Amino acid sequence: MEIENMEFRRAVDLRVMAFPARPLHGRPRNILHGSYNHDNAQISIYPLKVKRDWIRQEGFCTFKTPAGQLSSSQQKMLQEISVSAITTLIHEVLHVKFENRGLSRYAEEAIVRKLEKKYAHEWMSSLPAAMVEEPLPMSPTH
Ligand SMILES: [Zn+2]
Repeated sequence: MEIENMEFRRAVDLRVMAFPARPLHGRPRNILHGSYNHDNAQISIYPLKVKRDWIRQEGFCTFKTPAGQLSSSQQKMLQEISVSAITTLIHEVLHVKFENRGLSRYAEEAIVRKLEKKYAHEWMSSLPAAMVEEPLPMSPTH
């Protein structure tokens, strides 16, 4: 936010949702990771959808297991969670910056995605290697 010289004219309500967002209309395979509601100045971050079998077999103990003892599928899930959370938060905060610039939705989305990649890359290169896996996926956000 400092690098982007961001000034907030009003408080932004950041919500971490307990349940995944409903699939976007016409794009049932794209799960929404985050959204920014301009009118309410509200950012919502949604959880990833995880297979029920995985939760039953490995999911429950994932957060009780020391980092060094995680199975590879548990490590992979934690990587997905951290990448998704970081990229989504950066993405939506950038929408707050550009909301009043009079850009078309398409142009705004393109700029936000470009900057998201740049900052997500910088942020994640500062994390322990075990938490991040290259390359960065594009987050399906709006
Ligand atoms: Zn977006």
